[in-house]
Amino acid sequence: MLPISKMAAAVQPSATLAAGAKARALKAEGKTVFDFSLGEPDFNTPKHICDAGYKAMLDGLTHYTPAAGVPELRKAIVNFYKKTYGLEVSPEQVIVSNGAKHSLHNALAAMVGPGDEVIIPTPYWVSYSDLVQMTGASFKLVPTTEANGWRMSPAQLKAALSPRSRLLMLNSPSNPTGCVYTRQELEALADVVLQSDLGVISDEIYEKLVYGSAKATCFATLRPGLAERTVTISGVSKSYAMTGWRMGWSVGPLHVVKAMGNVQSQETSNPSSISQYATLAALEGEQQCVEDMRREFEARRELICRRLNELPKIKCPVPEGAFYAFFNVSAHFGRTLGGKKITDSTSFCAAALETAHVNLVQGSAFGCEGYVRLSFATSREQINQGVDRLADFLK
Ligand code: PMP
Ligand code: GLU
Repeated sequence: MLPISKMAAAVQPSATLAAGAKARALKAEGKTVFDFSLGEPDFNTPKHICDAGYKAMLDGLTHYTPAAGVPELRKAIVNFYKKTYGLEVSPEQVIVSNGAKHSLHNALAAMVGPGDEVIIPTPYWVSYSDLVQMTGASFKLVPTTEANGWRMSPAQLKAALSPRSRLLMLNSPSNPTGCVYTRQELEALADVVLQSDLGVISDEIYEKLVYGSAKATCFATLRPGLAERTVTISGVSKSYAMTGWRMGWSVGPLHVVKAMGNVQSQETSNPSSISQYATLAALEGEQQCVEDMRREFEARRELICRRLNELPKIKCPVPEGAFYAFFNVSAHFGRTLGGKKITDSTSFCAAALETAHVNLVQGSAFGCEGYVRLSFATSREQINQGVDRLADFLK
C-alpha cells in the first residue's frame, strides 16, 4: 500500500469546505437546502473584473509570470496600502498567491517549523490550526468569550507567551465571530508584541466588510517597528466576490517575502496570470461595486440578527464585520430535535441539516463548542426561509 505521511495523516479536511460539499451533494439529489455554511459571497464577480480577465486571455497574457506575481499587480497592492493606511512598502515586499489561504500557508512555512509555537486566539478560522501543524510547529489556543466581545486582552497574550512562541495569528474583522478590534485594542496588543520577540500574521481579508461605526485597522501601521515584525495578508475573495479566482497576497519584511517567494516558486510557481490581471482591474477600477456589496451584507446582518433573536433561547451578538453570525445554541443541548439527541454543536448542525435542511457549521470547528456559525453571504429570501425552518426545528 502507498504510504501516507505523518503530516498528511494529521490534517483534517476543512470543516467549512466539507459543510459546503454536503449541501452541494444534497442539492444534486434534488433536495432543497438552506445553505449557510460557506463564507463565500453569493454575488458574481463584477463585470469589469471579468472583462479584464478575458482581455488578458485574448492579449496572450496566459504564460508563466514571475513567481511572486506580475510587477503591475504588486505595484497596485503597494498603492492600495499607501492610499488606505499610509503603509509604505516596496513591490518586493509583496507576494501574490493562490488565495489568502495559500498566502497563510506560505507565511507559516517561511517562518515556523518543528519546535516553534504559534499563538491563536479562539474562536479562529478553521484552517489556522491545520496550516500551523502542517509546518511541524504547534499552536497554543487563547480562548476569548462572547462576554468580552471575542477579544483577546494584552494580559492573555502575555500569559500565553513561552520561550517557543514565534508568531501570533490575528484576524480582525474575524471569521467566525465578526469581531472588529478597535485601533486602541490592537495598539495594546502591539505593545505586548514589541516587548516580546513575537512576530505577527495579521489576516485582514475582511477589511472592506465592516458595518456601523466599526473600522478595520492595518495592524502593521500601529507602532514604529511593527511592520518589520508583521506579515499582512489579504485578498480579493471576499470584498470583490472573487473566491474562485484564487487570489490572495502577503505584505511583509523583505527577507520573509523572499523566503515565501522561494517556497512558492518550488510549490506552485506563479498564481494564475489571468486572475492576476483581473485582480489588477479589481484594485484599480471603480470601487462602487465593493460598497454596493458591503451595504447588502450590512442589510442582511440586520435581518439575520433580528430573525435569530426571535428564536427560542437564541441571542445573536451583532457582528461588526465579515458576514457571519456566530451564536450560542447550548441552551438546546440535552433536547431531542428531529428525533436526534442534541449533545453538542456537531449534533445540532447534523440534526438541523437532516431535519430542517438548514446547513450551519459547528462551533467546535472554530475551537468554540456551544456555538454555531451561519454565513449570511446569501440572499435575504434564503435567510428568511432558512430561519423559518430553524424556528420549526427548534419548536
Ligand atoms: N482567512 C480567513 C479568515 C478566511 O475566512 C478565508 C476564507 N476563505 C481565508 C483566509 C482564505 O481566503 P481565500 O479564499 O482567498 O483563500
Ligand atoms: N473562508 C470561508 C469559510 O470560512 C471559505 C471556506 C474555506 O476557505 O475554508 O467558510
